[in-house]
Amino acid sequence: MNLQTDEEKQLIESAYREMLANCHKELSSAELSLIHKAFNLANEAHKGVKRKSGEPYIMHPIAVARIASSEIGLGAKSIICSLLHDVVEDTDYTIEDMEHLFGPKIASIIDGLTKINDEMLGPSNQAQPGQQAETSKQAENFRKILLTMADDIRVILIKLADRLHNMRTLGSMPPDKQAKIASETIYLYAPLAHRLGLYAIKSELEDLSIKYRHPDTYQQITEKLNSTEKRRQQQINHFSLPIIQKLEENGIQFEISGRPKSIYSIWKKMVNKNVSFEEIYDLLAIRIIFDPYPHIPEKTQCWNIYSIITDLYQPKPDRLRDWISSPKANGYEALHCTVMGPNGQWVEVQIRSRRMDEIAERGFAAHWKYKSMDSSNQEHELDRWIKRIKETLENPQNNALEFLDEFKLNLFAAEIGVFSPKGDMFTLPKGATVLDFAYEIHTEIGDHAIGAKVNHKLVPLSHIISSGDQVEILTAASQHPTPNMLDFATTAKAKAKIKDAIRDSTRQQAEAGREMLERICSDAGISPNHRDFVHELLTAYGASSREEVQQLLGSNRISSDRIKRIARKYSGNRFMRSLFGSGKSTKRPAEYAEQQRLVPASCCHPLPGDEVVGYRSADIIAVHKATCTEGVRLMAQHGDHIVRIKWTGQNQLQYLTTVEIRGIDRMGIINEVTGVITRQFMVNISKFHIENHDGVFSGYVELYIQDTAHLNNLMDKLLKINGIDSVRRIDAPSD
Ligand code: MN
Repeated sequence: MNLQTDEEKQLIESAYREMLANCHKELSSAELSLIHKAFNLANEAHKGVKRKSGEPYIMHPIAVARIASSEIGLGAKSIICSLLHDVVEDTDYTIEDMEHLFGPKIASIIDGLTKINDEMLGPSNQAQPGQQAETSKQAENFRKILLTMADDIRVILIKLADRLHNMRTLGSMPPDKQAKIASETIYLYAPLAHRLGLYAIKSELEDLSIKYRHPDTYQQITEKLNSTEKRRQQQINHFSLPIIQKLEENGIQFEISGRPKSIYSIWKKMVNKNVSFEEIYDLLAIRIIFDPYPHIPEKTQCWNIYSIITDLYQPKPDRLRDWISSPKANGYEALHCTVMGPNGQWVEVQIRSRRMDEIAERGFAAHWKYKSMDSSNQEHELDRWIKRIKETLENPQNNALEFLDEFKLNLFAAEIGVFSPKGDMFTLPKGATVLDFAYEIHTEIGDHAIGAKVNHKLVPLSHIISSGDQVEILTAASQHPTPNMLDFATTAKAKAKIKDAIRDSTRQQAEAGREMLERICSDAGISPNHRDFVHELLTAYGASSREEVQQLLGSNRISSDRIKRIARKYSGNRFMRSLFGSGKSTKRPAEYAEQQRLVPASCCHPLPGDEVVGYRSADIIAVHKATCTEGVRLMAQHGDHIVRIKWTGQNQLQYLTTVEIRGIDRMGIINEVTGVITRQFMVNISKFHIENHDGVFSGYVELYIQDTAHLNNLMDKLLKINGIDSVRRIDAPSD
C-alpha cells in the first residue's frame, strides 16, 4: 500500500532539507549521516499517520528539529532527538532500539522526552477525571518535566521546541483542548522559556497563548497594532535619525530597529493597570545592536552609546536598567534606558552588543557557546539556578502541587542582587527576606540564622532585603528552625529546608523520647503500657497521648527525673522500689552509690573506654581523662583527692563529646555528615557549628556518645565521606 503520495514525499523532503539548511551549527558528515538515519527511521515509523491539520505526522518532528536547531541554536544530537521525539511514544520502537541505533546519550534524551507525555496531545486521551485529580496529575507531569530538565537541559529545550510547534499549529485542535494547552503554556512553558533566556520563544508562546485564551482581545490588539503601525514607524524614524547620525559619526557599527511590544505585554498592561490600548504610553521601544571594537570592554562601549543618546534626549532617571554589571539570572545582558522623545513621548532604548543580543534571543545555547569560548568565566547564574532546581527536586517528600506553587513563584519573581560581606553577589526573588538569603548561602547557615546585619545595621530574620544590600548573616549553634519561620521564608529552597529540619527534629525527638521512656520503664521494671502509669503521666503533663509525652521528653521540655519518680510508684519489684524509691529511709547499696557519684568532668568530657582518673570532692567523684590538663592541675594541687576508678559508664547513658570536622565545602556535604550521625548511628546532635572560609569549612559537632568504641566507629565513617579531610575528638570547642 502506498502510504505517502508523491506530493507528500516532496513536501516532507523539502521541509527536511530546509531544516538542515537553517541549522546554525556546522554539521560534520558523520553527524549528517546520523541525522539522515534518524529522519528515515522517523519518517518510516510515522508513515500513514496524519496530524489533526491533515499534514503527514513527520512534518511535526521536522518542525521541532528546525526550531531546536535554527531558533534555539542546538546541534546534531538535539536535531536527532527532535526527529525521534515521538517515535517511542507513538510507534512500536522502544528506548532499547534507540540506544542500539543511536547510542546511550540520544536514547536517554528521548527517554526524557517520552516520559513527559502530553496527555492531552497524545492519542490515548482519556475522559476528564475529577478536577482535583486532574490538577495533581498535571502537577506530577510538570514535576517530571523539571526533573528531566535536571538530567539534561536539552530535554527541556527540545520540549519547548515541541510545545512551540504545537502552539503554532493549535488552530486545528478542538476549542476545549486549545484552552487547556494554551493555559499550560502560559502557566509553565513561557516562564520556563523566559527563565532559560529564550526571549523570542517566550514572547511567541505568550502571544499564541493569548490568541487561544482570549481570541477577541487578541484580535483587537492585533488590529490596533496594525492600524497604528505606520504612525509608529514614522515616530521611530523621527526619533532614531539623530541617533543614527551620531553613532555613525563616532564610527560605531550598529543596527537599529523599532521594537513593537508583544501583544501579550500590551494585554497584561491593559488588564493589570486597567487602561485602554490608547493609554499605554510606552508602546515605543528601539533596540541598538552594535558590533563591538576589539580590546575595549563591551560594557564601556554600551555606556558610550548611552551617553551619546542621552546627549540627544533627556533620560528618565528611575528607568535606567544596567543588566551588564549584573546580568539577569537567565543570563540576559543589556543596558535599558527610557528617554524623552521629540514629541514628548517616552521611548525605551535597549543597548546590546552582538553577543548580548544572541544570548537574549537564543538564551541558553548561545550562553554555552560564549562560555566555552571564555574558559575563565566563573559559574554562571543559570548554572546556579539549575543547581538550585536540582536541589529542590531532590527532596522526595515534597508534594508535587506544593512544589509547583513554590517553584512557579520563584519562576515569575523579579530578581534582586544581594551581596555577602565578601562582595559575592547572590540573586534572590524580589521580596526575599534575610532568612531566604541565609538558606541561599548554605542550609546550615539558614538552620542556625538568628538575624543579620544589613548594611551594618542589625535586623531580624523577617527583614525584607532590597537590591544592592550587603547582608551578613548572624548564626548561633543553639538556633534551630521552627514552624513560625515559614511565615517569613519566601523562596522554595528556604521553605523546603525549614520543613525538612522541623520534620527531622520532630521525628528524632519523638524517637529519642520513646527510647528514654522505655529505658525508664525497664529500669523501674514496668511496662511502658502500664495503664495506671500512663494515666498518671498524661495527667501530670496535661498530655493527650503517650506519644505526646515522649515528644516532650525527647525535646527536653520535661525532665526525666519526674517520670522516673512516677514510674517507680508503679514498679512491682520491691527491691527496685526500695532501691530507687522516694522514701526517706531508703539506703542505697554502697557500690551503687559509688557508681552514682561518678560525674564526667565538663572540661574534658571523658567517655567510657577512655583512660581516666577520679578526683574526689565533697559528694561526687569527678572523672577526668588521664590527659586532661585541668584534671592534672587539680591533682597536682590536691594529690590526696585522687581516686583510682574504672570508668565503665552507666548502663545506656550517653555522654557529651565534641568532634571537630574539616573539609572542602561541597553541595550536600553537611547533609551527609548529619545523615551519618543521626540516621546511621542514631546519635543525637546537641550542637552543630560550622564556618566556611573560601570553600573550606571547619566546624564542630557536639554529640551524645556511649563510649570510645562507639565514637571511633562514628569518626571512621565520617572520615570516609567524600570531601572530609579531618575528623578528631576535641575536649571542647575552641570558641
Ligand atoms: Mn511532539
